Amino acid sequence: MINVKDLNMHFGEKKVLNDINIKINKGEVIALIGPSGSGKSTLLRCLNFLVSPTSGEITIDNITIDVKKVSKKDIFKLRQKTAMVFQNYNLLKNMTAIENIMEPMLTVQKIPKNQAETIALDLLKKVGLLDNKNSYPSEMSGGQQQRVGIARAMAVNSNVILFDEPTSSLDPELVGDVLGVIKTLALESKKTMLIVTHEMKFAKEVADKIIFLENGFISTIGTSHEIFVECKNSRVSNFVNKMT
Ligand code: ADP
Ligand code: MG
Repeated sequence: MINVKDLNMHFGEKKVLNDINIKINKGEVIALIGPSGSGKSTLLRCLNFLVSPTSGEITIDNITIDVKKVSKKDIFKLRQKTAMVFQNYNLLKNMTAIENIMEPMLTVQKIPKNQAETIALDLLKKVGLLDNKNSYPSEMSGGQQQRVGIARAMAVNSNVILFDEPTSSLDPELVGDVLGVIKTLALESKKTMLIVTHEMKFAKEVADKIIFLENGFISTIGTSHEIFVECKNSRVSNFVNKMT
């Protein structure tokens, strides 16, 4: 579903991503972990060209792009294949929960309104917010807003969802609900998910594979067991143990 080949990204002189190679199968859930500044957000953003990589090749859902020859049309096609959940929810303030979820279906996918509404109601139920369907973002807690953000990403007809620290701006007591929703969706849906997180317990329980990024390099890729139990790389084991 996702294949990243020799991906590099420079900000001016600074090399932020170095020869990144990743293969992710359909339906897999991948946790992307590592110290702050290691390039996790940049890697996620390169996948849908929110930032432009310097060199390499990206394949998502059968669209392959050589980043040096990318066109606007390629980027448009690629963005239709991915949905993104941000740290700060990014909901539209003047729209209710259900309107926020319906918005991309109506404007990007051109789904008829009644059909979009049925899908949105089903997703609101899944994230436990049916009672808040007519609430505006200002009337919801951070955790509720993020669950709307997740429902909106699920509504988009893409096989890949990218999450960038979806719980890091939430109060501690709200983190569990949002992680619970992501976990349920990860298990139930066939979507491929790439999740940047500092929640090690969540990564351990939910991820099929964990990627450890350090200074723009992938230092380790492994299963939960390989990363949390058997890991021979002391930097990685120190990091995951300190975070849990
Ligand atoms: P992470 O998400 O792992 O904390 P980032 O991907 O945000 O790391 O950042 C990786 C590195 O790239 C950092 O050293 C950061 O300072 C640098 N960086 C990120 N965005 C920019 C930018 N727009 N311009 C210059 N440097 C940037
Ligand atoms: Mg980041």
